[in-house]
Order: sequence, then C-alpha cells, then structure tokens
Amino acid sequence: MPILSRDPATGRIERMSDEATSAAWRSYRPAPDAFAGRVIMVTGATAGIGRAVARDLVAAGATVILHGRNEKTLEALYQELRTLGPEPAAAQLDLERAQGPEYEALTAEIESRYGRLDGLLHNASILGDLSPIEHHDIGVWQRVLLVNLTAPFILTRCLLPLLRKSDDASVVFTTSGVGRRGRAYWGAYAASKAGTENLAETLADELESTAIRVNLVNPGATRTRMRARAYPGENPALLPTPDGITSTYLYLLGGASRGVRGQRFEAQAPKRES
Ligand code: NDP
Repeated sequence: MPILSRDPATGRIERMSDEATSAAWRSYRPAPDAFAGRVIMVTGATAGIGRAVARDLVAAGATVILHGRNEKTLEALYQELRTLGPEPAAAQLDLERAQGPEYEALTAEIESRYGRLDGLLHNASILGDLSPIEHHDIGVWQRVLLVNLTAPFILTRCLLPLLRKSDDASVVFTTSGVGRRGRAYWGAYAASKAGTENLAETLADELESTAIRVNLVNPGATRTRMRARAYPGENPALLPTPDGITSTYLYLLGGASRGVRGQRFEAQAPKRES
C-alpha cells in the first residue's frame, strides 16, 4: 500500500493520494476485542456518522471519549453505549463557543484519566447555509470555519502531547467531495473542508517519522441530518445509513491500518453509471 505521495524534486508530501490500491477497508469488521486497551476520542458523537462510529468502537472493545455539545444527549448516549463494551467517557464542549481554557481542561482530564490517547476522529461539523458567495452571511461563514476547521486545529494541538504517548496513534479528519473541488453555493462548508484536507496533509507531513499517523475520510452521501438539510428534496431511503459506512473509520482508527498514513479514503465505493 503506498504510504505517501512525494514530490520527487523536493521530497515533500504532495496532495494525499485518492485511494490506496485495494478497497478492503470498506468491508473491515474488527474482532470483538480488536480495540481492547485503545483510548479513542470521537467528536460529534451524538448524532449521525459520529454516533455510529462511536458505537462500533465501543462494541469492538475501545474506550471511547464521546464528544458532544449537549449534556443531556451526551448522557443518554453514554448510558446506551456503556452496556456494549468498556465504559466510555463524555466530553462536553461546544466547538462554536469553547475557548483555550476549556480545551486545556479537557486535555488535562483525559491525561489524568487515561495518560494517553490512541485515536482522534474529527467528525463534528456544521453545514451552514448553502448560498452564493455574493450573499453569504458573514456570521455563518465565521461559525462554519470555527467549528469545522479551527476547532479541529485547536483540539489536535492540545491533544498532540497525549497522542505522542501512544505507540500507534491515529488521527482521522473528515472531509467531503466539495473539499477537493469547490462547488457553487457550498461556500463556507466547502472552504472549511478544503482547509481540513490541507491541515491533515500538513500534519501528516510534520508527523511522518512519529508513531502518530494522520488520514482523511470522505464518508460520501449518507443518511443523516446534515445530508437532509443539504438535499431536502432527496429521498433519504436511497442513501446508506451511518451504520453501513463505519468500516473505513474502524480500519483507520485501529491497529489494522498501522503504518497507513497521509492518505484520503472514500468510505463508499464510487457509483458506476449503468
Ligand atoms: P450530523 O449533522 O448528523 O452530525 C454532526 C455532529 O456534529 C453532531 O453530533 C453535532 O452535535 C456535532 N456538532 C455540530 N456542531 C457542533 C458544535 N458547535 N459543538 C460540538 N459538536 C457539534 O452530520 P453527519 O453525521 O452527516 O456528518 C459527520 C461528518 O461527515 C461531518 O464532518 C460532515 O461534514 C461529513 N460528511 C457528511 C456527509 C453526509 O452525507 N452525511 C457527506 C460528506 C461529509 P449535535 O447533535 O449536538 O448537533
């Protein structure tokens, strides 16, 4: 499996390769104890894709730090998942409002409880408004960039010392088709995902010779609240549910992908034209 795509002249990492040579990760199913002993944080674990990935991680034996902004939703999720595997933890942080001290307090809490972090899935995002740039609401633009791009940067920066304490740490960023190429009306969301791809590439390059690997996942069209907001006229029954697309995430967050770094994964196979 190719590891990094490099510019032969400078030796620096180029854009992440689209896909590795086979797509076996899309059907990856971990053994029931595959994640035993791994401590993994999932942002936006209270709904959609983050919730499905968090549940599968717990069921595979991971100790999952469930991140969300709403205390009641987090508590309900915690109660549900604790029956499936190792006791999870809940981390409440509103990514739109949190300031440095709250990130530092969360980091200190994780350190005192677990001493390290083996995985970090940046999943939480907001869509904002689909709107032409000419009419894009400025406040919405700022909020989308804050939640989707700046918050993952701050969280990563704070948690890197704990990730360094793992002998196989995996950081996964979530992108989107519009992160690769902008599209009319996708405004701040598209820009935030393009920035996310660049951030992941930069981090993958900086951490190349460490035990921390960094990859990107594009989940593809999935039946969630965000998708329904973006495509209100679409029949959601035609889309896969979050439960059906978790394999790529589990593959990347666990030991099965040890050594895989600097790549961009499509969680769903491209649709063939008939
Ligand atoms: P959902 O809207 O279903 O879930 C988003 C999650 O992010 C929720 O848990 C939500 O919390 C959390 N979140 C949003 N804002 C904040 C905030 N300010 N602070 C803390 N948490 C917050 O989205 P999806 O599951 O569809 O999306 C998951 C990821 O996949 C995103 O990064 C998205 O961009 C990406 N993606 C999704 C696609 C799709 O078709 N669904 C396609 C391509 C990419 P709460 O429950 O409190 O609102």
